[in-house]
Amino acid sequence: MSTPRVLAIAGSDPSGGAGLQADIKAITLLGGYAMSAITAITVQNTRGVQAVEVLPPTLVVAQIRACVADIGVDAVKIGMLGSAAVAEAVADELAGLGVPIVFDPVMLATNKGGSGGVLADAATVAAFAPLIAMATLLTPNLPELAALGGEAALRDATKNLLIKGGHGSGARVEDRLLTPEGARCWAHPRLPTRHTHGTGCTLASAIACELGAGLGLEEAVGRGIGFVQAALVAAPGFGAGGGPIGHFARGNAAQRLEQIVFT
Ligand code: PLP
Repeated sequence: MSTPRVLAIAGSDPSGGAGLQADIKAITLLGGYAMSAITAITVQNTRGVQAVEVLPPTLVVAQIRACVADIGVDAVKIGMLGSAAVAEAVADELAGLGVPIVFDPVMLATNKGGSGGVLADAATVAAFAPLIAMATLLTPNLPELAALGGEAALRDATKNLLIKGGHGSGARVEDRLLTPEGARCWAHPRLPTRHTHGTGCTLASAIACELGAGLGLEEAVGRGIGFVQAALVAAPGFGAGGGPIGHFARGNAAQRLEQIVFT
């Protein structure tokens, strides 16, 4: 099998837990070739976000073009976009690319325990619409689902929907995949941890990598969820706030993926 070339379009997290840094770790450990188009530079650590500087749309588009024109792209992951102008430019640039696109509609940083931080204002969220329509898979968490109009509205607006249950409160976490063909649910016990920073980024990148490798949607989502579970179990416990998950810790999450059992 050839190496899937995966382009992550997202913001930078200098503390290495989320954003592009998480994307690159996930794609690399799952055997993909990771490329990145940076949309924004954030200043943050496990305690929260201190500053955000969004790049001009022309620079984001130029990074995408540089990757597509030379190395080529088998799948795209979209995370933090940073501004409405960047969201619109990315949508224009990706239209017609013809590869799977996984869109994680990032709105808030999840380094809970810290101050958190808004990563998409209302105008940026409003500009998500064309990307939601063209995405192969949209991966909202529960607050993002509500902000985007709820399950029924999103089922009409996008092709396939993965509703992540991590922000719920029950003892079990349910991640539900809704496609035009039906529904599939992955359920697992909620892990008692504050170290969940980067779970959304990691999941979307892992799924993009597996789609780029040629897996079907359901199989790619199942492997992505398993990868995040393995990395959650191996979180290194770094930082005073919401710490990173353990892509690398004690072996790596890709190796432990086969041992994860869903109920
Ligand atoms: N993208 C960037 C640049 C971020 O800084 C964050 C969170 O801090 C996210 C995305 C979303 O993180 P998570 O995967 O924890 O939802």
